[in-house]
Amino acid sequence: MFKGPYILVYSLAFLMILSPPIYVLFLEARPAPAEKVAITTTTIIWDMVRNVAGPSWRVEYLVEPGKDPHSFEPTPREAVKLSQARVVFYNGLGIDRWLLKMAESAPGVRLVRVTEGLDQFILTVPDGPYAGKPDPHLWMDVRLAVKYVERIRDALIELDLENSGEYSARASEYIKRLEELDAWIEDRVSGIDPSKRLLFTQENAFQYFARRYGFKVEGYFYSIITELEPSPLDLSRAYRRVEGSGLCVFFIESTLSPRAMEVFASRAGGRVAGRLYTDSIGPLNSGEDSYIGMMRYNVETIVSELNRWCGV
Ligand SMILES: [Zn+2]
Repeated sequence: MFKGPYILVYSLAFLMILSPPIYVLFLEARPAPAEKVAITTTTIIWDMVRNVAGPSWRVEYLVEPGKDPHSFEPTPREAVKLSQARVVFYNGLGIDRWLLKMAESAPGVRLVRVTEGLDQFILTVPDGPYAGKPDPHLWMDVRLAVKYVERIRDALIELDLENSGEYSARASEYIKRLEELDAWIEDRVSGIDPSKRLLFTQENAFQYFARRYGFKVEGYFYSIITELEPSPLDLSRAYRRVEGSGLCVFFIESTLSPRAMEVFASRAGGRVAGRLYTDSIGPLNSGEDSYIGMMRYNVETIVSELNRWCGV
């Protein structure tokens, strides 16, 4: 019953004697050891992990910047990436559900859900196919992003206890910057009268943001699941919500096509305002290619567009 491995060893030894170049090729084809390789599903989590992990880790994302993680379909390329990782950080709550299927074929990889333990903060989706399920967009509230970073720090310490001091120091420094961001957002939106803090976005991704910074989500096209176009009934409900609400700008999002929103806004008599980042950071090497950069950009866009078109 142990013949198989022996035959393999003898065959390899034979190859080594007769044909060294084939042996070298065989070794080179093996995946590199997964020492300090971390993979993330979204670019937002990627940015948080690289801030805490530091230069000794290689940190890569699966969903490219500007792409929609909800509708992402992994290819063999992503499966290879995953198999070489030591740890994968994912959001959970549906937005990257494809990861769990992928992970079945990489059993040695440690999975860390960054929303784990945040149950008391989680909001539910009000309608659509995910009604009553958790809303995955917790990072839109910077205080909850801090919780993500704490979870990332703890996971890295568990994996590499020897360098725990380094991860704690990096996390503290990054959390300090996030707390400054949170205070800056509060200050920046304080100039807008609370009754004018209205949002109409493509995806219903701003519930956490609205709760934290005193906005009201007046409407949206997609109730979390972005693959489904809104039905005529959804649209007529949205028109009714807009009528008499004082809403005058409609925001589009970087990972979604703006067409439906443009048609809706022209019929509803409002303006299509700037593009916001929700499920991805901005393009690499732009000022918005980090979590902090994207949130600052979003807030500047929301404040300036409300000021410009709604006279707040
Ligand atoms: Zn989303």
